[in-house]
Amino acid sequence: MTTELDKAPCQTLHGVGPRLSTLLAKRSIYTLQDLLFHLPFRYLDRTHLMPLRDVRAGDYVAIEGVIESHRVSRGTKGSLMCELHDASGYIILRFFHFNAEQMRQLSVGTRLRCFGEVRYGYQGLEIIHPEYLQLTPGKALEVDDHLTPIYPTTEGISQGQWRRLSDQILELLIQGAVLSDHLLHLQERFSLPSLSAALQYVHRPPPDADRLQLLAGIHPMQQRLALEELLAHHIGLSRLRASLQAMAAPRLNGVETLTLQFLAQLPFALTAAQKKVLTEIRTDIECSVPMLRLLQGDVGSGKTIVAAFSLLQAVSSGYQGALMAPTEILAEQHYHNLTQWFTPLGLTVAWLSGKVKGKARKETLTAIKDGNAHIVVGTHALFQEAVQFKNMALLVIDEQHRFGVDQRLALREKGLQQDFNPHQLIMTATPIPRTLAMSVYAHLDHSIIDELPPGRKPIQTIVLANDKRDNIVARVKEQCLAGRQAYWICPLIEDSEKLQCEAATTTYQQLSAQLPNLKLGLAHGALSANDKTAVMQAFKNGDIDLLVATTVVEVGVDVPNASLMIIENAERMGLSQLHQLRGRVGRGGTESFCVLLYQAPLSDTAYQRLQVMRSTESGFIIAEKDLALRGSGELLGTRQTGLGRLRIASYTRDSALLPVVKAIAQDLLRDNPVVCDALITRWLAEGLEYGQV
Ligand code: ADP
Ligand code: MG
Repeated sequence: MTTELDKAPCQTLHGVGPRLSTLLAKRSIYTLQDLLFHLPFRYLDRTHLMPLRDVRAGDYVAIEGVIESHRVSRGTKGSLMCELHDASGYIILRFFHFNAEQMRQLSVGTRLRCFGEVRYGYQGLEIIHPEYLQLTPGKALEVDDHLTPIYPTTEGISQGQWRRLSDQILELLIQGAVLSDHLLHLQERFSLPSLSAALQYVHRPPPDADRLQLLAGIHPMQQRLALEELLAHHIGLSRLRASLQAMAAPRLNGVETLTLQFLAQLPFALTAAQKKVLTEIRTDIECSVPMLRLLQGDVGSGKTIVAAFSLLQAVSSGYQGALMAPTEILAEQHYHNLTQWFTPLGLTVAWLSGKVKGKARKETLTAIKDGNAHIVVGTHALFQEAVQFKNMALLVIDEQHRFGVDQRLALREKGLQQDFNPHQLIMTATPIPRTLAMSVYAHLDHSIIDELPPGRKPIQTIVLANDKRDNIVARVKEQCLAGRQAYWICPLIEDSEKLQCEAATTTYQQLSAQLPNLKLGLAHGALSANDKTAVMQAFKNGDIDLLVATTVVEVGVDVPNASLMIIENAERMGLSQLHQLRGRVGRGGTESFCVLLYQAPLSDTAYQRLQVMRSTESGFIIAEKDLALRGSGELLGTRQTGLGRLRIASYTRDSALLPVVKAIAQDLLRDNPVVCDALITRWLAEGLEYGQV
């Protein structure tokens, strides 16, 4: 009997028992089709050994050499560092975790073949936790003849296991297992390869494959799959929009008096851009179709006021409004602002986070339920089942691109509780060029605040080579002793949050030693939410002078006294990310600086990218230039849609496909709901699980 891949469960494969099934289910993988569409997200090129002289930071390399020195560095935990030499140069291998066996194995004189990502460390180029093979003297080891696929994984499933599983399914496919090719009718028009050929190729690139194309993700076989994935997302988002708008929303016509009172009380006038987006929002919420609008506005462009006016309109129409932020600190800031603004107007603002407990929580929940709370501000605690609104008609989500899929959907349940869907305004500071935003957030309408309030002090941006690091440390000392505060952002380590945290800890220890008179704090992703909040709060209160952090601070604390931002290995970060980080300073009255440290030598593109940061403070210009400058790579916020992560497509790299995707999606949505369903099942398992599509 021929296997139908979308029906056969994974257990039909060799080696898949209850344990592995459970792990696979965690990634929403249940059927053979799900497994087949679990695609490699990159390839390792182990087809040639790179001389150490030619190794560059950011490369994934296969190298070979002999260990010439070996030591355990100082520090609380200590890391094992080995210097690996070949005829052309050397590199450092660094291990944060190692056992006695490894200590012995990685001793001086040992010849190793290593694979891994190269980065800049304090002693030069290094690889953290390389994969390695010990070589026997006199015996040469062949290099691979094809690229090695690397699969996204979950704790407990090794790359070898993924390969063995996909081997079995690819074999079934060759033997004629059933897999529907939903783009068959487009094959000729767009000269597409067949689905099954594309899958074989992407899972197991043949030895003669065009390596550069594959590594860049632009091979026609990859593009065939990317097209289908983008199509599935577009269809899913269109359906999501339709389902959210299927239920009516209240018309929020409001009364002018409150708005005018609020306006009179503001110490400034609204910018033209703020007025423009407010009109767009007002037009939406006066209708009975639920608004689904994305408000883009650079850091500091004044989105909160826009949210406040919108909420006011809901309240003055006799309904409740809610404002949700992704972190406790951000939510608290909003609560503080709204209370200040709205209490004089006779309105009650309630506060709800996971931390509000006991009697206070009970009282707050009652106030929300009986309508005594006009506006509710909080974290995602707002979406817990126990929270019942009397009549919430407008939800503002301050997203800062950190919200997960699950928070967004809880909203629909709230709507069901109330027999209507609230209007939704999602605010983001992520500067995504308009054309791109229209695809990534295809289910939303778009408003942009494209102007900053007048009178901002510019931030001076300085680009410096890493060897000037000591000067910067001196500068930090001087500024902090003068009463100001500073951020020190540690380098990005792709794919390993754990290593990133450890690197930050090392930097923290080094800076602590160099700056004994300052109070230092450390914030990274491995801290519990409570600890993170505590550190941020201490920084906010001025109890910490210098905050050493991984990119977590991007989420956005407002510390007006912080006037110095130092970013290490800035050349490795996306410009949008640098922009977000830089936006943390320049909020107070004093002149602010942002220092972008880089490791020489810089490539031409890297140089130009850092120059862009020097030349402008506009997030949108930065995003546009970033997109123009890099061939591949992602803009922040475009790696996933409201329906989950992309597996093979990239909105930035594949943007040329987007008009085609839109046109095909429109046809399919109109003519072929069955194919739409099938594409959604195939590509959006996660979204399905959340009941979103
Ligand atoms: P963001 O868009 O980053 O959320 P905020 O809403 O926090 O920005 O606003 C940043 C700062 O600018 C706040 O202190 C706010 O009071 C101020 N602000 C907002 N709008 C204006 C305006 N039209 N004129 C002057 N200052 C403004
Ligand atoms: Mg904000």
